[in-house]
Amino acid sequence: MNEQIEALLRQIIHPESGQDIVDSGFVDRADMGEDGNIAITLRFQKARDPFTQKIKRQVEQLMAEHFPASNTLVIVREAPPKPRRREQQTTTNEICRIIAVASGKGGVGKSTVTANLAVALRQRGYNVGILDADIYGPSQTKMFGCEGYVPEAEVDEDGNQYIIPAQSLGIKIQSIGFFIRSTDALMWRGGMAVNALHQLLHQTKWGKLDYLLVDLPPGTGDIHLSIINEIKISGAVIVSTPQQIAVADVIRGVEMFRHEQVNIPILGIVENMAWFTPEELPENRYYLFGKGGASRYATEVGVDVLGEVPIIQSIMEGSDDGRPAGGYDARVEEYYAEIAAKVVDKLPTEC
Ligand code: ADP
Repeated sequence: MNEQIEALLRQIIHPESGQDIVDSGFVDRADMGEDGNIAITLRFQKARDPFTQKIKRQVEQLMAEHFPASNTLVIVREAPPKPRRREQQTTTNEICRIIAVASGKGGVGKSTVTANLAVALRQRGYNVGILDADIYGPSQTKMFGCEGYVPEAEVDEDGNQYIIPAQSLGIKIQSIGFFIRSTDALMWRGGMAVNALHQLLHQTKWGKLDYLLVDLPPGTGDIHLSIINEIKISGAVIVSTPQQIAVADVIRGVEMFRHEQVNIPILGIVENMAWFTPEELPENRYYLFGKGGASRYATEVGVDVLGEVPIIQSIMEGSDDGRPAGGYDARVEEYYAEIAAKVVDKLPTEC
């Protein structure tokens, strides 16, 4: 449909629906040929109806006014109107708190922290969901052992479409990874990924959730901006390893959330892979990547440290086996219980 003509046709309001004739579904086609002549096809239940004739005349007049040099041919087809579907309502209405999990760089354990924090919150009895928005390396599907899941669509009587999330360990999981191969990620930059995530966020059948954790891609980019603009995020968790903490990417992340137009509270930093303790020397801590980086940095920029998680073999194995270690290894559970408690404390109790 020619955009300019469509915009003009929208000035004509259908008296019954109160909507313009384009949205009400009475316009099949509206084009301008290379010769400048205009062809419009309208669809009405009854072509000879006085009401139909009135609208036809309005269309002709409008075109004559705006395109005096063109000939306009208006054809009426006898067919039921096809109303355009209105934007469906978002499915995020029943989500109480949305937490963004971010990192400066990839590979620091952002997805692992998201998964284990979700498990810890679930263990406290909350309804929890995860939106895996990391288009460059969607890994929640693997971490929760639901890689093969094919999301089903559901349509209600009003024509609204919903996507059914996967469920694992009582957590609802929706991931861009269900829809793309990771090798395609680079092609997903920009608009396409933003649109796909928009759909995942607003059409997933989340139901009632106490917490939705959004596993963001590393760094700061289009995806971050669109998610930040589209939903009300209650707070952000920043994940970093000790040696990455003070680098520019993390600082940019903190600044992004704190930007006056964004204004998302930073709940705190999780320092991941903070030290290593060999099984045979349980009292020893080896600070392979430096010591105390996170707390120094946190004090400097005025954010809290939510917790420090050491390098633990089961964390890595759990992610590979499709069940986050926080669900079965008591040591890991303890670290994440503490982080979850702080997160809960920092967010409003009321929705
Ligand atoms: P990101 O999401 O930041 O790219 P991942 O969560 O995918 O990072 O973690 C990268 C790798 O590090 C994964 O193999 C994961 O199992 C491992 N890993 C993360 N945190 C820990 C930890 N505390 N101890 C051991 N391995 C970890």
